[in-house]
Amino acid sequence: MAFSLLDRSDSPIGHAVRRFVTGNHQLFIGNEFVDAADGATLVTIDPATGGVLTTVASAGPVDVDRAVSAAHAALPGWSRTSPRIRFDLMVQLAELIDENAESFAQIDSLEVGKPIATVRFGDVPMASDTLRYYAGWASKIEGSTITPGLPGAQVSTRREPIGVVGAIIPWSFPLTGAIWKIAPALAAGCTVVLKPAEQSSLSALLLARLVQEAGIPAGVINVLSGLGEVAGVALVEHRRVAKISFTGSTAVGIDISRRAANTLKAVSLELGGKCPNIIFADADVQVAATVAASAIFLNAGQACSAGSRLMVERSAYEEVLAVVAAEADKLVMGPGLDESTTLGPLVSAAQRDRVNGYVDQALDQGVQAVRGGVMVESDGYFVAPTILTGAADQMPAVQEEIFGPVVTVQPFDSVDEVAARANDVAYGLAAGVWTSNLHTAQSMTQKLNVGTVWTNLYNYIDSSVPWGGVKASGHGREMGREGLEKFLQTKAVWTAID
Ligand code: NAD
Repeated sequence: MAFSLLDRSDSPIGHAVRRFVTGNHQLFIGNEFVDAADGATLVTIDPATGGVLTTVASAGPVDVDRAVSAAHAALPGWSRTSPRIRFDLMVQLAELIDENAESFAQIDSLEVGKPIATVRFGDVPMASDTLRYYAGWASKIEGSTITPGLPGAQVSTRREPIGVVGAIIPWSFPLTGAIWKIAPALAAGCTVVLKPAEQSSLSALLLARLVQEAGIPAGVINVLSGLGEVAGVALVEHRRVAKISFTGSTAVGIDISRRAANTLKAVSLELGGKCPNIIFADADVQVAATVAASAIFLNAGQACSAGSRLMVERSAYEEVLAVVAAEADKLVMGPGLDESTTLGPLVSAAQRDRVNGYVDQALDQGVQAVRGGVMVESDGYFVAPTILTGAADQMPAVQEEIFGPVVTVQPFDSVDEVAARANDVAYGLAAGVWTSNLHTAQSMTQKLNVGTVWTNLYNYIDSSVPWGGVKASGHGREMGREGLEKFLQTKAVWTAID
């Protein structure tokens, strides 16, 4: 039987987190913790060892209905709560997240295998920053006044909350993913039913305790751990849910769109990516190549923004390849909770097998593995950093989202050629462009059909900057003003003036 990191004698997990992880994990509905109506639970696994961590309640349709009813009942009160009070409560929640930062870091690291430093210095501060950013928006929601063409009337518009929001998130960034949806929804005056991914429910359930502690009214935020095909589907199909805000795979995004159409819900989708990272020879090639390595190996490649398709101008190709390989050699593979780890496991056995399948297929097709390409012997779900060369554009390794530490490196010869090839994938989330030539940078920015272009940097994401994709990467934007707009609807108010 496999053990989890909790069982290790030198486990770095503190007592409070240990107590929390091994405790009883119920659903959070109307500010109360309750078991699933049918008593169902699901198991969460330590991806570094394959051992069982704990069990959590698994919501069914009855629980979804209860949570949506709680959110629906809370909606009139929350939407009319003064923006100042909404601001205070959101900031209070941000402060509680900061106070519990190390617990969140340990929990997300334990459940997902993320190197703890990346959660400590990335995910957790981003979560509280996003809450503070959107807390400020609560008092800045404004309508307009219109003098219509018809005489004798005046019109004002009111920006009103769209209603109960179903928020469904993946496991790649558990705490941040939850807050990216909760924060703009709360600022807009909406109430939320959050369904975390089945692999990573714990930080959402810890967040639920802080919601209680912050004094956020009952029903404003509800958390339902559970399975996508059960709790997720019931949430999407519930007639009282006005909007689904989804982050996850493209296949599930399509399924959600279809189901949501039956009740004409608003849907916003943050889906997969196959992000080209394009290095021109006139860039600072050493810097570009070093960042290119972190662009793919961060979070073991389990990021929608992963720079999984590295394209290098031919004259710089060998130099970039050598730097990326040297950076891969420096990575320390291990459990996320070990401070020295820079490459954690993948989240699950299924994900590891899927990634290894892509690599095997590429090798069968004649692609070379400059690094990786061999199985890692471990009970945990580790995949070695893998660098593939010689791949043709139409191969699955170049076209499909692998979601693991696997990068293809390909040469190119011109701006037009690389732009066309970069666009010739189903996805359109983000792209990196590295050049010292302003014209090349501007030209590439225009040509790339993506939601974000990073020029001479990569993976910069901020609460104030819209984030999202085009094509199979989804639609709608999170973050920034646009991220708030998606939780609001407009009411036109006509008034007779004569
Ligand atoms: P997934 O689509 O399998 O699951 C995501 C969530 O949807 C989970 O909570 C799951 O339980 C739920 N779900 C599954 N089936 C459902 C259904 N039929 N109806 C309703 N809900 C359902 O994705 P994953 O494997 O957890 O995460 C990886 C994917 O997420 C990748 O494709 C990645 O690119 C994407 N992602 C995108 C962004 C972004 O900002 N664009 C960010 C992070 C991850």
